[in-house]
Order: sequence, then C-alpha cells, then structure tokens
Amino acid sequence: MAKIAINLSKGTIEKDSNIIVGIDLGTTNSLVAYMKDGTPHAVKDENGKNTLVASIIHFGQKEEVVVGNEAKQFLVQQPENTIYSIKRLMGKSFKDVADLEQYFGYKVIDEDTDSLVKIRVDDKFYTPIELSAKILSQLKSRIEAELGATVRKAVITVPAYFNDAQRQATRDAGKLAGLDVLRIVNEPTAASLAYGIGIDPEDTQIVAVYDLGGGTFDISILQIQQGIFEVLATNGDTFLGGDDFDRVIVDYWIDHYGLDKSLLKTDKSRSQAIRLEAEQAKKTLSTKDKFQSKLGDLSLELTRETFEQLIRPLIDKTLKACKNARTDAKIEPAQIDQVIMVGGSTRVPLVQQMVSDFFGKSVNNSLNPDEVVALGAAIQADILAGNNKDILLIDITPLSLGIETMGGLMDVIIPRNSKVPSKAGRQYTTSVDGQKNLKVAVFQGERDLVKDNRKLGEFILAGIPPMAAGMPKIEIQFILDADGILKVKAKELRSGVEQSIQMRSTYGISEEEMGKMLLESIQHAEEDMAVRVLMEAKNEANNIILSSDKFVEQNKALLSEEERTTTIELTNALRESAKGTDKDLINKAMDELNTYTHPLAHRVMDANIQTALQGKKID
Ligand code: AMP
Repeated sequence: MAKIAINLSKGTIEKDSNIIVGIDLGTTNSLVAYMKDGTPHAVKDENGKNTLVASIIHFGQKEEVVVGNEAKQFLVQQPENTIYSIKRLMGKSFKDVADLEQYFGYKVIDEDTDSLVKIRVDDKFYTPIELSAKILSQLKSRIEAELGATVRKAVITVPAYFNDAQRQATRDAGKLAGLDVLRIVNEPTAASLAYGIGIDPEDTQIVAVYDLGGGTFDISILQIQQGIFEVLATNGDTFLGGDDFDRVIVDYWIDHYGLDKSLLKTDKSRSQAIRLEAEQAKKTLSTKDKFQSKLGDLSLELTRETFEQLIRPLIDKTLKACKNARTDAKIEPAQIDQVIMVGGSTRVPLVQQMVSDFFGKSVNNSLNPDEVVALGAAIQADILAGNNKDILLIDITPLSLGIETMGGLMDVIIPRNSKVPSKAGRQYTTSVDGQKNLKVAVFQGERDLVKDNRKLGEFILAGIPPMAAGMPKIEIQFILDADGILKVKAKELRSGVEQSIQMRSTYGISEEEMGKMLLESIQHAEEDMAVRVLMEAKNEANNIILSSDKFVEQNKALLSEEERTTTIELTNALRESAKGTDKDLINKAMDELNTYTHPLAHRVMDANIQTALQGKKID
C-alpha cells in the first residue's frame, strides 16, 4: 500500500514519486529528464522555456545562494563569490589542479597537499561535492515542481574518463542533495541510449561519441555488445569548446575594427558585452550566412565564411584527438558503425561537416545536442525502474563496501551499485612515526561514519618496518566475487608484508534492512557530510601541525626570530581551532598558516639545495 507523507511545516501532502530521474551534471550546463508516456523528456524552467540550468552558483549576502541562469550575471560583477566549472574540481586534490589556478575567478585553496580541494567564499569553505549538490538540488526542485511530487532516486552521468574518486564525489553530491544515486552512467553511453543504440541486447555496434560543449571536448569510442557498453578509448581536450569559438570572434573584431585591447582588459563589462555579441554571432551563423549588430556606436559584422576560417584550426584539433582515440581503440575507420553528436557546439554546420568527412559517414544529430545525455540518462533510469522488462540488468552490489580511516570515517572502496564481480583498491599510509601495525576494519553501508554502518570484519596488518609517518605504502584491495564473497588484502609495498581476510558481504542482512540503511543515509546526508568535512579538516590540520612543528625545529638556522615566532603562533592558533568543531575556522587557520609558510618553505628548500650542491652536510 502506498504511504502518504504530510509535511508538517508546510501543511501540505507530500506525494512520493517513484520516478527515477536522469541527470546530466555538466561543466557549463546541467539538466534533468524523465520518462513521460514512454519517451524521455527534459524538464523546462518555470517559464516553460529553458531546459538548461547554468552550472553556476552565486553566494550573495547572508549566504543567500542563487543557482543557474540567474547566477550568470554575477560572473563579471562578483567573480570571487560566483562559482562555475565546479565539475573540473570534483574528486581532485590541489596538486591535480594547481596549473588551473589562473582559470578560476574564485579562490581554490592551496594547501599544497594531497587532500581534496576546497573553495573559499568569504569566510566559508565548501567542497566541490557540496557545491555540486546545490546544482543537483536545483534540478531536483525543478522536476518536483513539474511532477508535484518528491523525487528521491536518480541516475547521474559523468564523462567516460572520470576515475573512482570523481565518480564517488558525484555520488556523494547526489546523496547530499537528497537523491539515492542508483547508477553513475558514462555520458557517451547515455547519448547512445538516447539514439536507441544498445537497447536491443542483440545489438552489436561500435559507436563514436563526439562531444563538443562550451569548454570541453571529449571523444569516446564504445563497443556495445549484449547490452554492455565498453569504453574502448577516450580522448579530448579539457579546455576546448564553444567558448574558444567566441574568443576567436572577439579577437577578430578587435583586430578588424582596431579596438583598444588594453581598454577591454580593464573595462570588464564592455569586454563581457562584446563576448556575448560574439556568442550571438556564432549562434546566428549556425543557420544564417551573415551576422550584423550594433553595440553602442560600434557596428559589428561577421560572415559565415570568415567564421569558418577562424574556427577551422580548432575543429582540426578535435579531429586529431579523434584520430588518437581511434588508434588507441585499435579501430579502423570502416569499423565505426555510428557517430553521435553531443554538446551545443555541434550545432555549428562546419563541425558537423568536418566530423562527418573525418569518419566517412553522416552523423547522428537529430536529437537536441544539449539534451541528449540527460535523455539517455532518463532511459537508463527507466530500465533500472524495471519498466523495460526486455533488458537484462547486470548484478550489482546493493551497499557500498569500505574501510575505516582516521576519525572513524568510512572510506568507500567498492561503491554501491558496482557491477559484480568487482575489484578495487587504494593506497594508504601511516599517521604516526614508526607505526608497526595497521588495523583494517571493513564496513558496509552508505553512512559517512563507520559507527553507523555494518561491520563485516577486521584484521591487523602487523610487522610494518619502522618508517616515518606517511612513508609506508599500504595497498588495500577489495575483491568481490559473483556470490558476494569479499576478500580484503592489505600489503605494505616497500617491505612486502601482507595479510588478508575473507567475508560474506550479504550475510545476515535482509533486503528490508538494506532499504532502511539506504534511506537513513539519505535522511542523514547533510549531518553526515558536516561531520565528514569537519573530521577531514581536523585530520588535515593535525598533519599540517606535525609538519609545521618539524619545520620550525629543523630549520632554526634558516628562519628569522620573527618568522619562527609567527609560524609558532599560527600553528598554535590552528592547534586551538582543531580542538573545536568549526570547520571554517580550522580551514581559515590552515589557510593562514600555509600562506605564511609557503614562501619560507621555498626559501628553506632552496638553501638546502644550495648547501647540498656545495657538498656540505645538511642538518
Ligand atoms: P554545452 O556545454 O553542451 O551546453 O554547450 C554549450 C555551448 O554550445 C556554448 O559554447 C554555446 O555557445 C554553444 N551553442 C549553443 N547553441 C549554439 C548554436 N545554435 N550554434 C553554435 N553554438 C551553440
């Protein structure tokens, strides 16, 4: 029997929708789709106009948050409070993105560590997961408004090249937005499904998915066999897309009309206005041969011929990546059965023509290229909902499997809904100098703290040779077989010491209990995330305190009295804040200490190298 929930605060009846939605969480734009009367349908905004939600978040005064197209205008006015391209930061450490620093208008925190990046907005610190969750919440509200019911389940798409950490971060963002993410699907797989490819299990095809969006280009080559989509190769350019088409138009106009380049640099609103005109010109030229407009006293013009000359080198670049992907996949041009076009920039006729010439066949572009991924995600969601009985679903793990890490946190190694059999591993290290033993406790469940999950077993990896904290390389591997038997192996790679344990992941748990565990994880997502973020900040703070203490102790001779005192003071402030429960305060103290010691650390390192080069002993 269906249950009816009453929202006491609003006094409304809340209907729970059983619909599983498909979400395309994009770098520039995101959207949500669902199956309506047997066909996938992308949800529009309240004005019934736009299906795209700009993946932009603006933080106003008093933490007022605006997500989507309304936030766009703040990109120029308040860049430091307006977050875009958050997808580029998902599951990344600062080291991974250090060379992108210039690209972001907001502050990505440099702690020069391996921990995940954070974004600073005023005195608050956010993870990319929290920020992506805001975009997902917006999409969730949009579809709930259309359906008049609560939505709790989703399929979310990610690029085929996303690694485990990036996929896990996407899942976590879903959970934080109140969504049970039933599956993470590759974007090219979703696009193929939207074109009906792979739905018939007898279907065997090789498909190339050419995805040219606003800021990124991806080419994926998939082999589809018996309903299984295998990625043979991916290639692309993470900084190439329609924005570059706009940029070459702006450069051309500056040159052609002799505009003052330096003035445009300082006058941000004028340069933004010209950029918007360029985008308009590009879009117009997708259907017309000439663009003309006026910007104040300036008349702007562009013909399709000139535009095509300007962008030809950029399209050539994408074709080079296609060639590389084809070589990696070991596929001859004639073996590719279909070419699918994804992303708004594939509306440009020259793109379609050059891609079609390259692959030697006409391209699939009958669906809206902005929506095709979300539409495919909705089809996948419908299959998961069991509405398409002809499709066989591969066995999957019902709950995540992981181990306990510092601060009682659950570190997921095999996420829920992974295909079975499955194998995954991760490297860990010690946190104390000379640590000889490491406890490996294995848990099952979706909560962020292991105390809220089910313990499956534990063992101790003993006999690690004494080394400084952080030196041992301990690889933990999970091997889950088709019967749900989980083997956990731990090995210290420097010394070869190893230990393993075997357990049954489904032992003593009913489907009902699993369902309850899942629901609880979503209900507690927000508080769990808050605890996780706090624990992670504390762990990181403790590591930094340790290294800062060592740094001051070991480099007495190279630091001035004032530098020493200030470093000690800032370290003590961090030590104090790490005892409390305010993660923003801890992050702020870390940021201050790091900013202060960064140049000192460089100087000390240079001095040490100098000493080494002179053949002197370093103490
Ligand atoms: P996406 O990231 O897939 O949403 O792609 C957005 C990109 O597609 C932006 O660079 C848009 O300017 C571009 N775009 C959208 N519509 C058109 C069009 N009609 N012609 C050319 N480019 C377009």
